[in-house]
Amino acid sequence: MTNRTYNLVIVGYGGMGSYHVKLLKENQAINVYGTFDILEERSAASEADGYKAYESYAAVLADKEVDLVLIATPNDVHKELAIAALNANKHVICEKPVTIYSKDFEEIIEVAEETKRKFVVHQNRRWDKDFLTIKKIYDENIIGDIFHVESRVQGANGIPGDWRHLKAPGGGMLLDWGVHLLDQLLFMVDSKIASVYANLSFVLGDEVDDGFQTIITFENGTTALIEVGTTNFIQLPRWYVKGTAGTSVIENWSIEGKIVTQNFGIAIEAPKPIQAGQGLTKTMAPPSESAVSTSDLPEVESTMESFYDNVISVIEGKAEPIVKNTEVLRVSKLIETIFKAAETNEVIKDFDFYKADLM
Ligand code: NAD
Repeated sequence: MTNRTYNLVIVGYGGMGSYHVKLLKENQAINVYGTFDILEERSAASEADGYKAYESYAAVLADKEVDLVLIATPNDVHKELAIAALNANKHVICEKPVTIYSKDFEEIIEVAEETKRKFVVHQNRRWDKDFLTIKKIYDENIIGDIFHVESRVQGANGIPGDWRHLKAPGGGMLLDWGVHLLDQLLFMVDSKIASVYANLSFVLGDEVDDGFQTIITFENGTTALIEVGTTNFIQLPRWYVKGTAGTSVIENWSIEGKIVTQNFGIAIEAPKPIQAGQGLTKTMAPPSESAVSTSDLPEVESTMESFYDNVISVIEGKAEPIVKNTEVLRVSKLIETIFKAAETNEVIKDFDFYKADLM
């Protein structure tokens, strides 16, 4: 734990900027020192909430009391704001998706290296309990070796807000929710991606995707179906995973779900054929009672430092970032590949760089 306080300015005091303020109230090491937003009404909201609103971004960067800048603006301006802050000797936390294009992120990484400042992306959903539960099932082989992962978020409210409907500021659901689900997947599955196929959805008539489905196959044989929808009036489970010894489902963010595993080593009754539609089936009949066991999902407690504490530990040279820039770059390149696969209607191979390639 640090024994000093870091002054942080939030750039972009909209939905997420003001959410960070709420979260940071709990944090001892980071002091929200002020905000900057191009909209007068958001500056007024900041002052009403008790936080100094800077008149310009130049004023934020010129203030020697500011140690850290947190960028929570629409995605197209992350790069210029980040590079200016790093050049002004500030450390930077940046909202996801870090940039719209991976080459812009590569430029940020170069400037962070040159200026010896830290740049960390807020991939907060690595700390989500539903994800940590699935990761535990995966890591501890609770249903055997997991060979298939389905990860979905589905809403029925369309694309939210204003800029998320537009291409130029980096709207669309692949860049919005997609980046979270893909980041979780690559953080969990320890293998290089072999191939990607994808479909984007444009049913709402926006110029950006209102959802997508992608199928990712890893070199270790694991397959993943990642899906984001905003036109789903009935939702499928948040997670559905299959392993060599069972299946697990997590329905929602309240972590309702179960594990069903196959019983081994006892006399197992064969399934009885059932009437199915106009036919008879044994293949699709439920397993006999003696063939499976149902159990609760495991309890999880994150052993990782909190996101903000980790940023401070990284600045002080006491820890490696939990969200590494190479991992964020890998996700960014995967997103570009998903766009390309959807556009060309092709299965794309040989694009992934994997951590082994970086050593
Ligand atoms: P928003 O529209 O609610 O807020 C963005 C704010 O940025 C607005 O107040 C706008 O006036 C301001 N702004 C725009 N350009 C600016 C500039 N050049 N300088 C200063 N301020 C500027 O958007 P939001 O939903 O808060 O999203 C902001 C960012 O946060 C996006 O990158 C988004 O992807 C990310 N986000 C992350 C999460 C998460 O869970 N990590 C959740 C929501 C949003």
